[in-house]
Amino acid sequence: MLKIKATMLSHSGPTRNARDHFRTAVQPALRVLQGEIASCRLCDSMSPWRRFGRTAYGNPGTGYLLVGEAPGYVSWRKRQRFTGPAGLVIRRALRQIAHPLYRTLEDLFYMTDVVKCHPARPGSPRSNRSPKQAEVSACSGYLVREIDMLHPSVIVTFGKVAAEGVVHTLTLRASSELLPEVIAFPHPSPRNLRTILKLYPSMRAFEGALTLVFRRLIKRLGRRSTHA
Ligand code: SF4
Repeated sequence: MLKIKATMLSHSGPTRNARDHFRTAVQPALRVLQGEIASCRLCDSMSPWRRFGRTAYGNPGTGYLLVGEAPGYVSWRKRQRFTGPAGLVIRRALRQIAHPLYRTLEDLFYMTDVVKCHPARPGSPRSNRSPKQAEVSACSGYLVREIDMLHPSVIVTFGKVAAEGVVHTLTLRASSELLPEVIAFPHPSPRNLRTILKLYPSMRAFEGALTLVFRRLIKRLGRRSTHA
């Protein structure tokens, strides 16, 4: 696990004004943005995000953002993020905690990707590939707006593209004094096993590290109410 930036944003808990602002301004603006993403057709080569429903984003009220590189084929087909082999590793790590309020990633995080649509290799629609730089650039404005609206206190990323995309996005934002803590994990795909094992003694240790981070985030929420 790589910790990129120390937290500078205070999240002691939303005031009533903040909760009202969240309900009347942030949530409607998020829905508009999600609609824009769903109808975006900038990248011809991608399987469109339109298959995802709004619930695929999870919970915008915790102040925690989970960012992947792009939806994989299985997630895209199931219309639920992080449900392919790599996503199931992350979900299993959270389930270990068995917290009654935060059983799923959708309970604990607002979930998004650096690239919102599914990238497949040419001629192989069921395959997954890393997003191209042009696709990351085309999609980057959406992530900027998500972060600007949500002001997350913590962003958890999976994979190099996601970590770099988030750090780049944070440098673009106007309100740079409100920097979230960024926790970058390697991509949990079985195909990335070699990289994971350079950083952790075993897959089990990697999952244990995920569980530890999730436990810490849930503990912090216990000290404050969330917007949702
Ligand atoms: S990847 Fe992003 S920019 Fe490209 S079509 Fe999908 S939503 Fe639009």
